[in-house]
Amino acid sequence: MRSQFLEAIETAESWLDQLKGGPGLSPTCPLGDHHIKALLSACDQEEINTLIETADYARKVFMGNQVHLRGIIEFSNHCARNCWYCGLRRDNTCLRRYRMPLRDIVAAAREGAKLGFKTIVLQSGDDLWYSASMIRQMVESIKQEVDVAITLSIGEREFSEYEEMRAAGADRFLLKHETADPDLYARLHPGMTLDGRVERLKYLHRLGFQVGSGNIVGLPGQTIDVLARDICLMRDLDVEMAGIGPFIPHPATPLAGYPPGDMMTVLKVLATCRIVMPWAHLPATTACGTLDPNGRQKALRAGANVIMPDITPAEYKALYEIYPGKNRVDIDAARGYQLAVEMIISLGREVGQGYGHSSRHRPAPAA
Ligand code: SF4
Repeated sequence: MRSQFLEAIETAESWLDQLKGGPGLSPTCPLGDHHIKALLSACDQEEINTLIETADYARKVFMGNQVHLRGIIEFSNHCARNCWYCGLRRDNTCLRRYRMPLRDIVAAAREGAKLGFKTIVLQSGDDLWYSASMIRQMVESIKQEVDVAITLSIGEREFSEYEEMRAAGADRFLLKHETADPDLYARLHPGMTLDGRVERLKYLHRLGFQVGSGNIVGLPGQTIDVLARDICLMRDLDVEMAGIGPFIPHPATPLAGYPPGDMMTVLKVLATCRIVMPWAHLPATTACGTLDPNGRQKALRAGANVIMPDITPAEYKALYEIYPGKNRVDIDAARGYQLAVEMIISLGREVGQGYGHSSRHRPAPAA
């Protein structure tokens, strides 16, 4: 009798073969929730290898051999929220806080573009000190100076603020849902709800942003069922990017005593995402590289097609400590770019050319 895992792989393979016609075709993914759970439950080495090879095949067919580089500028580590797993949480009084002035942000973007980045990611905690018009000014100033796509990763805002940011010319918005279990979400995010996050993701899509979500793998209380729901949620939201990274405990948070997520589960989630959402951009996340020295290479072999080196100036970089060891202060933007290129080439892949937009991208309004 075929195992549920093999049935899920065969269903995936036949769907992927039908889809080879190109991204214009997007019939509904036939993988049901039970298939997704079966893929995530791959347990022996043979099943895990099959899962990863199928994901790598899907990546090759639908995303090609290119790995896109996105330069991240973490422009503020202030945060109004108190997420239980995050070192930037409001109650972490041990952290020295910073806000980069506009001229430093634009200079870092200019430097990133000079190195070759075609996307700049502007990331911060949920720092409401930056009004929508300040973010607008940030986006417009960068776009006036350099030819890059801009991703915003600045958390939850009013819908009208997202409208202003889109009108300024921001191309993408990253807002990870973190966990699709509403109770776990509410426990880990005091004062916030999963519904509120999902409504924002839907609205960002309606505004024409390329939308990214993602989860944390290995959170206390998480099960395979919850991880399967994470993937189903991202599939149903039709996200264009999905950031999958391990939980890494931070000593100044309520989750300090819990063990980190494990790399194999991260790879299974990533590979399953690639199979279920073959056209999505999937980064080999920094957290993978922090948990395992070869974590990003492993992720790139399991379906990932994006690397996001940190190009925040050294004086701020160490202070953006979502989890310990996140940023290497000894690696500047130029060295980070070079190391990423070397990694891509060592895996027989190519550095992405162009902006690396989603295949269903709609241009941002002219700023
Ligand atoms: S996860 Fe984001 S919103 Fe939550 S505390 Fe950290 S920076 Fe703030």
